Amino acid sequence: KLSQRLLTIAHQVPAGSKVADIGSDHALLPTYLVQSGKVHYAVAGEVNKGPYEAAKKQVEDARLEQMIAVRQGDGLSVLEAGEVDTITIAGMGGSLIVSILSALPEKLKGVQTLVLQPNVAEDQVRQWLRDNGWFLTDEHILEEDKKIYEVLTAVKKDHADTHNANLYDESRELPCGLRLTPEQVISFGPYLIRKADAVFMSKWEHELDKLNRIQGTVEQSKLESSKKKAEELAAQIQGIGEVLACLR
Ligand code: SAM
Repeated sequence: KLSQRLLTIAHQVPAGSKVADIGSDHALLPTYLVQSGKVHYAVAGEVNKGPYEAAKKQVEDARLEQMIAVRQGDGLSVLEAGEVDTITIAGMGGSLIVSILSALPEKLKGVQTLVLQPNVAEDQVRQWLRDNGWFLTDEHILEEDKKIYEVLTAVKKDHADTHNANLYDESRELPCGLRLTPEQVISFGPYLIRKADAVFMSKWEHELDKLNRIQGTVEQSKLESSKKKAEELAAQIQGIGEVLACLR
């Protein structure tokens, strides 16, 4: 059975698309997508031998070799230009996702949808999307096995509804009247903050606790550089605290 996390990602993949899952590990996501009939063609990319072998075995055992190509290679290098219209990248840090997306821009030609699930540093992924002509069209947050995950869906500007164009600006004013900085919108997520559900609140309460603990240790240090760090932390803590208070 597929995890809630991978199911959420699967739901974001457009029906009938040609999809590449980069860093596919056991190829669970492409296998599910093809077996459920949602897509008829998928590529599972893996850089490491162990996961690549596991993906190959999974696809062979399911007798899906005709519909899922399993390839070993770094990031988008496993793709032919124009081969897929959707790319999923899940279960790695945001900076790795960004470096995979940035490394071979020509491989993104013809790709219309990205479904990304960074484990950390979601803000780096949103920033990259924003800087590279992608509109966020949806965001999901979920909790599974005591971990919180975010799933970001983005569409290439030429294929997007223009109503997504001003999303980041429109999301800056919260219903409670507080005005967010552009950096805060990137870090909370424009859709997630508008919804501000229980999982979202829990994620940011934990983040606040963590920052408070870090501040405690930084304050004990006598280094000059710690002073600046403490000031930055204090501003961050105050910002998040205000937002949470306003959303509660
Ligand atoms: N995507 C699956 C998921 O979400 O359940 C697997 C996540 S697993 C934690 C991350 C996988 O990404 C590993 O199997 C790793 O080998 C692979 N990986 C890391 N860097 C990669 C890269 N540059 N290109 C392709 N795969 C990569």
